[in-house]
Amino acid sequence: MEFFGADERKEINDVLETGILFRYNHEAIRNNIYKAREFEAEVAKLVGATYAHAVSSGSTAALCAMVAAGIGAGDEVIVPPFTYIATIEAVLMVGALPVFADIDETLCLSADGIRKAITPRTKGVCLVHMCGQMADMDAIMAVINEHNLVLVEDAGQAMGASYKGVSTGLWGKTGAYSFDFFKIATAGEGGIMVTNDEKAYNYADSYSDHGHDHIGSNRGMEQHPVLGFNYRISELHAAVGLVQTRRVPEIIQNNNAHKKQLMTALGQVPGVSFARIPDTNGDSATFLNLLLPDTETAGRFVAELNAAGVGGFNYWFTNMYHFINQWDHIKEMRTASALPIEKFGAPQDYNNLDIPNAQAVIGRLVSFGIRATWTNDEVAALAANIEAAARKATLVEA
Ligand SMILES: *Cc1c(COP(=O)(O)O)cnc(C)c1O
Repeated sequence: MEFFGADERKEINDVLETGILFRYNHEAIRNNIYKAREFEAEVAKLVGATYAHAVSSGSTAALCAMVAAGIGAGDEVIVPPFTYIATIEAVLMVGALPVFADIDETLCLSADGIRKAITPRTKGVCLVHMCGQMADMDAIMAVINEHNLVLVEDAGQAMGASYKGVSTGLWGKTGAYSFDFFKIATAGEGGIMVTNDEKAYNYADSYSDHGHDHIGSNRGMEQHPVLGFNYRISELHAAVGLVQTRRVPEIIQNNNAHKKQLMTALGQVPGVSFARIPDTNGDSATFLNLLLPDTETAGRFVAELNAAGVGGFNYWFTNMYHFINQWDHIKEMRTASALPIEKFGAPQDYNNLDIPNAQAVIGRLVSFGIRATWTNDEVAALAANIEAAARKATLVEA
């Protein structure tokens, strides 16, 4: 959501001039304009994926990733208690059972948390790379491989992030990115499922379009290997997503420069530390993620920031809908897709989860969105404002 310009307009006009807003068929009149295909190729190139499939949202991309990885009814899927709610919804939508495990100071599931949540019914893990950073992949892959689990990555917030040179979304069987308005690149609405597995790609391709196999030139007249639903992306959305994806390397470069400047300036402030970044070279740096000594101090810090008109938010005190403490509807299973829970039984007591690190870390976390368009002076001013608020918040008389 950082930059829009003439390139986005040009791509949209290409589509409008042909009048073909549908990604399939109409060969004779579309003048060889296939924006969804170009969008997919652009994302595949950016992240180094063999296959990319565009769909209507990051949520439906996560759903396709789950289905294409073979996760289905009655399977237990280990999930984080800190994510956007769509991750958990996708697990329920495929008839699987979410099992919440603990996180660590990476803000993502920890290897230890995953290990403790494994049962004989565990089929896989849906790992979420939070706040533009990445999970601790070496340790996590060791548990995944040791227990032969299926790994799906919801990299909705971390497109362009990587660990030791491998993109988030490509560590497991399938991965998903979001292009909603708040993400590093936007299509208005849209998502991409990525994989290096041809079968998983073909499954997602069919599943997202009522099971059409898209083999041959006339969609609608081919074979239908599976049932699916409509999660298609339109050519208009893909046209925007395609240009936005090309801008990501520049955005990431700027963001990283700003984040480094902020971390250097704030590194010596008493009481301020940072969420752990397992590979600083792979950070998409869309957020600066500070950790305060405890939840109370973080609350005072956010109050000081608000009073001074400085950005910065905490997922604990605001109802941002990213943390389990705000998910009463899940604890009570207020959903049309509660059937798997009724049929197979809840795998955990969702009201009494044993996730002490998550409860501690999310309370201490204060995040700031980083803008690629900032100048160095703006970054320096922000650092000074953050430091002033932190000093006030940590100076408490006993
Ligand atoms: C944004 C987001 C989604 C949902 O993406 P939409 O495109 O809004 O459907 C899913 N998972 C995570 C982690 C996200 O941040």
